[in-house]
Amino acid sequence: MALFAKEKETPISAADANPRTTYLCLECNQPLRLKKGRIPHFFHLRTSPSCRLYSKSERHLLIQMAIQKELPTAILERRFPSIERIGDVCWEELKTIFEVQCSPLSEREARERIRDYQSLGYGVIWILDTKQFNQLHVGKTEIFLREHPSYFVSGNGPFIFYDQLERIEWGQRIKKSFSFPIDWKKSFSLSLPIEGKLPRLLAKRSTKTSIFFENDLIDNALFPSPSFETLLEEFSFEEKRPSKAKTFFQKWIVDPYTRLIDSFLHDTR
Ligand SMILES: [Zn+2]
Repeated sequence: MALFAKEKETPISAADANPRTTYLCLECNQPLRLKKGRIPHFFHLRTSPSCRLYSKSERHLLIQMAIQKELPTAILERRFPSIERIGDVCWEELKTIFEVQCSPLSEREARERIRDYQSLGYGVIWILDTKQFNQLHVGKTEIFLREHPSYFVSGNGPFIFYDQLERIEWGQRIKKSFSFPIDWKKSFSLSLPIEGKLPRLLAKRSTKTSIFFENDLIDNALFPSPSFETLLEEFSFEEKRPSKAKTFFQKWIVDPYTRLIDSFLHDTR
């Protein structure tokens, strides 16, 4: 499902499209038709598994629209032809792309998306749907994304966007804090390095973001209340050294298997 298509080379919104006209997909160039439903959108006339817009669900579109409602100057499905990508929600003012993720993706794809947008001067904030993420089992990609600017989204509209402290060991989320709902109306730029001021848990993320929102983890860590400091102590921990048997298992069983899954996801995306 897509909110925009093109007619010849001109982009058109589903809200302005004609149900009898055939349009083309912004990403894969395949023919699209308009469907008027709860949200007017375009659908592909043929299967196009490699197209990201083809596999977008209605939920994905609703989450994108909920973000735009909070940030009215943001643009949905902005095209970046030079890197052949379409940003879910692009907030030009703060050079930020919000990538909504409702389905699994490989770590390689996540890295490539971040790198591509970075090459044009944009940072990426990941919005991870709790129907797929924030479960007990945590894959390599989710660990990677949580070290980057990312929030969870839950609910079915209205949606709740939140951050959380968590403790992940051996691919299991063994502990999580209560939710910190973010306030979209209050964003802050991070112009100076603050790594040294943050607990180790968040220092890594802070080097990968240029903005944060009120009540997210970075905000709480920079201006901590006594209760947040207590909570941080509970979640900051030194990594336990795994035993030789665990290391062997990780190196020869878990890692090759994860790589296989990653390459499979990448190829069938
Ligand atoms: Zn397409």
